[in-house]
Amino acid sequence: MAPSATRVAWLADEADLDGFRRHARQGLIDSVEPSQLEWRVATRAELDLFGNRPSIDEPAAADESAPRIKVPALFVPLAERAALHSDTNRFGLLYRLLWRLVHESTLRHDPLDADRQQAELMARAVRRDMHKMTAFVRFRPLALGDGQALQHVAWFEPEHHIVDATAPFFARRFAQMHWAILTPERCVRWDGNALAFGPGANRSDAPPADAAEQLWLTYYASIFNPTRLKLAMMQKEMPRRYWKNLPEAVLIQPLAAGAAQRERTMVEQPASEAVRRRPASSRALAVAARPVVVHTPGSLAELRDATERCRDCPIGAHATQAVHGEGPEHARLMLVGEQPGDREDLLGRPFIGPAGQLLDRALNQLGWPRDRLYLTNAVKHFKFELRGQRRIHKTPAQQEAAACLQWLESEIAIVKPEAAIALGATAARALLGRDVPVMKERGQWTTRDDGLHVLVTLHPSALLRMNEADQASAFERWLADLALAGDERYFFV
Ligand code: SF4
Repeated sequence: MAPSATRVAWLADEADLDGFRRHARQGLIDSVEPSQLEWRVATRAELDLFGNRPSIDEPAAADESAPRIKVPALFVPLAERAALHSDTNRFGLLYRLLWRLVHESTLRHDPLDADRQQAELMARAVRRDMHKMTAFVRFRPLALGDGQALQHVAWFEPEHHIVDATAPFFARRFAQMHWAILTPERCVRWDGNALAFGPGANRSDAPPADAAEQLWLTYYASIFNPTRLKLAMMQKEMPRRYWKNLPEAVLIQPLAAGAAQRERTMVEQPASEAVRRRPASSRALAVAARPVVVHTPGSLAELRDATERCRDCPIGAHATQAVHGEGPEHARLMLVGEQPGDREDLLGRPFIGPAGQLLDRALNQLGWPRDRLYLTNAVKHFKFELRGQRRIHKTPAQQEAAACLQWLESEIAIVKPEAAIALGATAARALLGRDVPVMKERGQWTTRDDGLHVLVTLHPSALLRMNEADQASAFERWLADLALAGDERYFFV
């Protein structure tokens, strides 16, 4: 019969890795055998009236004179993940494995040992759950009222205790957003500066679906390729247990059911003309020089639909959605940037990232209400390259901007602004049809053949890239450029 436990190691919560480390270290120093150490996680029921855990023997802080314990390198990363598994026996298993690694010198060379394999399986399950969380969290906007930053809230049900370990990924990925992820066990919030953790929540605490979700469903349906449908693989990658929190899950069944018919239709259609992905330079020039076809949809809403479907250049295939212009249908002044950034791509609105915030500051100082201007970009999809988990902005190629010009010109045809401000070189080239040396021509008006007055200045992101020491004076000069559109000669705002 196993000897009864003689020591209880209390952990503050299910993911208390520090507590496990301290108790395990002290257990080894005091030669407490695994069968004599009982691991407990303090639950609400075990807290006393004042919310404290029962009185416990906290291991003392590391004693310099205590004997040094050498732990094989394989144990630490393994324990950091396996300790987050939902199996209630995990801490006992990990302490037993640690004890055996310290006392059995051959164990580190035995990957088939049952304890090691069990811990490896747990660590793998936790890593998989963390990966699924990074892939399947879906934020929904939550309006908090006047003057408060828009919050994005997601509901997720992880299988293991992974919220603390996965939260830094979201802080890096959505650094500019204010967001919260609610789970039944633990919640985490990011205010743009720091992560804050709290107790679990209910599904009903998360906001309901919104209009952006419909857009996401449209996008998901549009990228569904019936010829590539592999249901078994799909269910492996997107296990059914996550479906209830994935808006796109409602589309899977109908799309899968219609896949065979869609595939037959695709096969019966005549082959389309092959498109060279990297046109020769002469072709690139031809693309850039070809006349722009201005679509004449009746309204901005129709234009939005048409742009959403556009795949006239490779950028559209990788972005989340097309980001359309925003503002009154007959604004007198149009501001044209280069392309949406990371945040704009995710939320589907122009000028809401760091550069947009700088533009807002300028508009405030000029006294120009943003909702009286039409804000748009020369290129409608976000071009980026992946660096690790981050999507880094990439300047669109000339032929990509040329392919996208049809949409900007269509917007101009509908809105009919009297003037446009070209923010940066890509916008200036799109509006004026030639290479524009921005630093030389900033602050100058040019009138196009169609009568549109175009003022050239820098893109706000150019100011953000400057040395901090230069930013204040550069901002003042940029304000002076912008102000030309509001002076008494032009007064377009
Ligand atoms: Fe079409 Fe412009 Fe998007 Fe390219 S970037 S796919 S041209 S909308």
